[in-house]
Amino acid sequence: MIAVYQQKGLDFFNLIAQSLEYCLNSTSRRADDFEIPDEAYNSLRKQYNPECIVKEIAKFKGSLEDFRLGVIDVDIYAHGLNFIFGLAHPLRRIALISAYRLSGPQLLERIAKEVVHETGHLFGLSHCADSLCVMYFSNTVADTDNKSKNLCRQCRRKIEA
Ligand SMILES: [Zn+2]
Ligand SMILES: [Zn+2]
Repeated sequence: MIAVYQQKGLDFFNLIAQSLEYCLNSTSRRADDFEIPDEAYNSLRKQYNPECIVKEIAKFKGSLEDFRLGVIDVDIYAHGLNFIFGLAHPLRRIALISAYRLSGPQLLERIAKEVVHETGHLFGLSHCADSLCVMYFSNTVADTDNKSKNLCRQCRRKIEA
């Protein structure tokens, strides 16, 4: 079960639930909405530190069996990268995706792909060399648009094993 925690004001739950069901055969539940903590803002980078947001989501009391997926709409970064679309901590069972860099007419499609991608990491998948596989690493939104929201046959075999 994937527990979906959304930043207050966002409502992508139905899209996310359908994508996880269709692409990863996983069920989801709508969990709490939350606010981005002030300390997540990095005024030098003018971006948000996703680790502070992960910590905020980890504070909620949920079932230990659940994976947690946070959905936000602020610009996040990682060390050495200008920005990231999302991240996953498989051991902590938490992933995060941001809609911030995904805006445009294909917003919903892009969110679906990045949600499946980060959840794939939670399920133990790593990046895939197949540029059409959803586990392909998106460096730009064009990479996201180019890939499908499905796992390639090899990645599918790995999670079914
Ligand atoms: Zn990835
Ligand atoms: Zn693949």
